[in-house]
Amino acid sequence: MSDPSIVHLNGEFLPADQARIPVLDRGFIFGDGIYEVVPVYGRRPFRWNEHHARLVRSLAKLRIDNPMDAAGWRQLVQTLIDRHPWDDQFVYLQVTRGVAKRDHAFPKGITPTVFGMTSPLPAIAHEHLRDGVSAVTLPDERWLNCDIKSTSLLGNVLARQAAVDAGATECVMFRDGLLTEGSSSNIWVVRHGRVLAAPKDRRILEGIRYGLMQELCEACGIAFEARPVHRTEVEQADELMLSSATKEVLPITRLDGRPVGSGAPGPVFRALHAAYQQAKQAST
Ligand code: PMP
Repeated sequence: MSDPSIVHLNGEFLPADQARIPVLDRGFIFGDGIYEVVPVYGRRPFRWNEHHARLVRSLAKLRIDNPMDAAGWRQLVQTLIDRHPWDDQFVYLQVTRGVAKRDHAFPKGITPTVFGMTSPLPAIAHEHLRDGVSAVTLPDERWLNCDIKSTSLLGNVLARQAAVDAGATECVMFRDGLLTEGSSSNIWVVRHGRVLAAPKDRRILEGIRYGLMQELCEACGIAFEARPVHRTEVEQADELMLSSATKEVLPITRLDGRPVGSGAPGPVFRALHAAYQQAKQAST
């Protein structure tokens, strides 16, 4: 319970600064791997079954053998949580294809590398809830398999840096004039009281909060529509929101330096944020 920096590597729990991977790990050489980020509230992983299902899906899409059964994954996550003192944490899990002589094609007979760590989950900044955050629009220049939660994140890294360079928190990306998502979040558009979402296809990562937002909309009696969302609808939004494991749901109140709607967090955000807090509470 006391050491704040114990990580999991290939079946072992050890201090982070003693964990080593070989330089020929394909995660290092090619970004050939997948990951998950699981929020933990009151020492319990939130929406674990959904995170586990996405992990299994990502592995299958990359044809990486799943190194553990569901109980094994759950146990790994719980051990990481139990070995750290924080009630609220976020667990990071990563699987790479493994270690092999450098060659693009899949090597045969190698063992996937399994890594896991946890960190204290920072509280959501009060100012972000009160004032919202700013975002900039960007062309989505990533590959076309964004539904895989792959560690190959250079497109996302460059997009986030472009946002940071512009003094913003996140970006809102478009492909062919249609909304995709943020660099590390899903984006939600409110128009005329309805929540619009980019459809779940290969152009976006289906966040675990995607399903959750849909459920929360239903619970709050807010219409929810997943369909192609045009850039003009984003520009004319009454409210914009982002969601992710560590940011929960946040209002985007400035886009490209202009106010979104009234320029302040709106009623749909407030309703969904309150419902989100209830869902967290109910899970602990
Ligand atoms: N899209 C991208 C590109 C992401 O990296 C993330 C996760 N940070 C999300 C969406 C949101 O997914 P989740 O709700 O599972 O955190």
